[in-house]
Amino acid sequence: MFRGALWLLAGRGCVGRGLSTRSGGSTPDWTEKVSEIKKKIQSALPGGAWDPLYDTSHLPPEHSDVVIVGGGVLGLSVAYWLKRLEKPRGAIRVLVVDRDHTEYLAVVDDPPLDVQFNPSGYLLLASEKGAAIMENNVKVQRQEGAKVCLMSPEQLQNKFPWINTDGVALASYGLEGEGWFDPWCLLQGLRRKIQSLGVFFCQGEVTRFSTSSSRMQTSGGKEMTLKRIHEVHVKMDHSLEYQPVECALVINAAGAWSGQVAELAGIGKGPPGTLEGTKLPVEPRKRYVYFWHCPEGPGLETPFMADTSGAYFRREGLGHNYLGGCSPTEEEEPDPGNLEVDHDFFQDKVWPHLAHRVPAFQSLKVRSAWAGYYDYNTFDQNGVVGPHPLVVNMYFATGFSGHGLQQAPAVGRAVAEMVLKGQFQTIDLSSLLFSRFYLGEKVEERNII
Ligand SMILES: Cc1cc2nc3c(=O)[nH]c(=O)nc-3n(C[C@H](O)[C@H](O)[C@H](O)COP(=O)(O)OP(=O)(O)OC[C@H]3O[C@@H](n4cnc5c(N)ncnc54)[C@H](O)[C@@H]3O)c2cc1C
Repeated sequence: MFRGALWLLAGRGCVGRGLSTRSGGSTPDWTEKVSEIKKKIQSALPGGAWDPLYDTSHLPPEHSDVVIVGGGVLGLSVAYWLKRLEKPRGAIRVLVVDRDHTEYLAVVDDPPLDVQFNPSGYLLLASEKGAAIMENNVKVQRQEGAKVCLMSPEQLQNKFPWINTDGVALASYGLEGEGWFDPWCLLQGLRRKIQSLGVFFCQGEVTRFSTSSSRMQTSGGKEMTLKRIHEVHVKMDHSLEYQPVECALVINAAGAWSGQVAELAGIGKGPPGTLEGTKLPVEPRKRYVYFWHCPEGPGLETPFMADTSGAYFRREGLGHNYLGGCSPTEEEEPDPGNLEVDHDFFQDKVWPHLAHRVPAFQSLKVRSAWAGYYDYNTFDQNGVVGPHPLVVNMYFATGFSGHGLQQAPAVGRAVAEMVLKGQFQTIDLSSLLFSRFYLGEKVEERNII
């Protein structure tokens, strides 16, 4: 087997490293050498086409200190911070496993990353009922240094004459460093960066964990079973092949599917009402985004706007194009089994609110739409960060319910600090630990879109 041959040639550090840069770590020199050796062996053997060296570059390494399940923005951010904070450089091996396929090339000497940031601000509108919460939120944001102002309906009307202020009691508007960016650029940039830091990637699905258990007694005399994951089983894409990866630690960053990944480790499988029986309450929830054109719509200065009804929109480019949507109520939740778009939802639930708030939108024309999954935490719609109390080497970075992108850089750092230093250091995220689900302590997000 090629894996074995590499091990003999290059020592333990190279076990399982692939031939391509996609797996990380190998250099063009090394790739050439291996290819030469392969050719020599082939020419020396009878029966030309037979390949004695089975190419394992698509397989993950057999060992990795940390396996990250999920190569979305949260998984990549954790990988980035682990490599950034590791000491000495190269001390820990990190593998990211994702079942989705995207091909990237690491580019040396890249120009600085441009995420197409558009600093047009967020404009949030509150009704009489929501005004006190808005005031409180803005107070916290200002304490943290954000430049945010509060506006009365009159001030709002003066600043944005295209808004109908009917039913608006208060508005908050970000004046600096706030707006939107291209998430795909960020993801691509992160991936390139961590590839250059030596993180391994593998396309495959995590289907099973091998664990061991030990019994312990709490100070109150209660018997508990602690579990530890030793191996992550990765099913290779379009194949029946499985690869076990020995590891010290697993990061569950599987987004909308992280509840299922937690279940693979036995989380939530104990009797109801116990810590063992407490599930990770994260599941896929389908959300639609509609793209429309409206020649009479608001112009360049249009911020991202969230209405009192929950409907939201922002400008997309410069040609009087816009995109937006609205989260459904609990009763309206669509079937998450597919990603089909419900166009009636726009007609019945989104457009009436938009047209009321921005009268010019009465004549808008929807041009396209798409659906995606929120990584929805059904308990309190907030993130889950840090280790599981019983499966002691599974850490979470998930459940951000529609705001994971903007929080990923900070969450990645917090999880990496927890892994490397044993505690949160830069930001204390202990209110987002898993144990709150068992204790019934909600950390509610008060302005979810
Ligand atoms: C319509 C919409 C609008 C949004 N708007 C915003 C916004 O304005 N601001 C904001 O901050 N956030 C927003 N979000 C949310 C944000 O996109 C998510 O919170 C964020 O992308 C979650 O990142 P993630 O890495 O946790 O999950 P993902 O990006 O979903 O990555 C998880 C990965 O895990 C992989 N995976 C799952 N199970 C397995 C397995 N068993 N084995 C291997 N791989 C597995 C999946 O293939 C997936 O690639 C929006 C989301 C949607 C749908």
